[in-house]
Amino acid sequence: MKVVEHIEAAKGNTLFSLEIIPPKKGDSIDGLFAHIDPLMEFKPPFIDVTYHREEFVYKDRGNGLLEKKTIRKRPGTVGICAAIKNRYDVDPVPHIICGGFSKEETENALIDLHFLGIDNVLALRGDAISTEKSFKPEPEGNAFAIELVNQVSEMNQGHYLDDELQNAVPTNFCIGVAGYPEKHFEAPNLKSDLNFLKQKVENGAEYIVTQLFFDNQKYFEFVDKCRAAGITVPIIPGLKPITVKNHMNIIPSIFHIDIPDELHDAVENCKDNSQVKEVGVEWGIKQAKELMDAGVPVLHFYSMGKSDSVYRIAKELF
Ligand code: FAD
Repeated sequence: MKVVEHIEAAKGNTLFSLEIIPPKKGDSIDGLFAHIDPLMEFKPPFIDVTYHREEFVYKDRGNGLLEKKTIRKRPGTVGICAAIKNRYDVDPVPHIICGGFSKEETENALIDLHFLGIDNVLALRGDAISTEKSFKPEPEGNAFAIELVNQVSEMNQGHYLDDELQNAVPTNFCIGVAGYPEKHFEAPNLKSDLNFLKQKVENGAEYIVTQLFFDNQKYFEFVDKCRAAGITVPIIPGLKPITVKNHMNIIPSIFHIDIPDELHDAVENCKDNSQVKEVGVEWGIKQAKELMDAGVPVLHFYSMGKSDSVYRIAKELF
């Protein structure tokens, strides 16, 4: 079932969903299941699975020689989606990205997902890899999420890359895209960012999932601005509980978002990370309750392989 169909079927009730990351290469899938199992109590209708592109690493081979190697540290997105469907009978939402893929490779991945009976994808550009200063698409790849949305929309109409292909089976993916209440870090301003977000929707995206945020006011203002710009699709808020003091530095630099003064002060006053975790849960409950009262369609938790804080927050609400 499609994400938008789940939202419609909920008839205004807020749903619980989560996003997980594939285990590191060499790790078992059992750890992931152990993380998801307790959260099934809150009946997530869908679970997002992130996609992690390959990285280049240089290995010292002695004699001053460096060997360039390609390593994908977290493979397995498609397999995990199939495993989630199998084990929980929940709709998996694989993330698909422009980075590292030619359009042909994207098409083949979408065919695999279609054959597996997966009904949803979240279409993203991806970020620059550590050896690049800024994002670079593959020579035959998509450069922006808009182009990826276009490609999936075309396949949904039976138009594959090879235009000589006759009577190709149309796919039927529900396409989600990312939105940024505090602006995407590369965008010159929110207006420009919203303009491209609107294009993603006009080209076929049926819902938006936001970057994580800690200040609900920023989400509410973002939704108002989207509506004023004519973006009418559901806007799902993304939430992540703080669990360690170091999050105060890491989260703003990775996700380009602000930490509210009140949350920052509370974390700074903690003696250790067990206290920080309590602050994160309290903040998460307060944030989630307010969003739920405002009638958001889904509370989407970036659980990042740690379920206990998300469990405690969800237990208060679902
Ligand atoms: P885009 O929508 O392409 O936007 C990127 C930038 O370009 C923005 O500044 C936008 O304003 C601008 N822009 C857009 N279109 C155009 C255009 N046509 N011309 C000029 N400028 C344009 N990354 C992963 O690698 N794997 C994941 O699984 C993953 N999951 C994510 C899930 C969510 C909910 C979110 C919010 C992010 C996720 N990311 C993931 C990170 C994401 O890939 C990065 O934030 C990336 O920098 C931007 O992706 P996007 O799809 O928003 O890009």
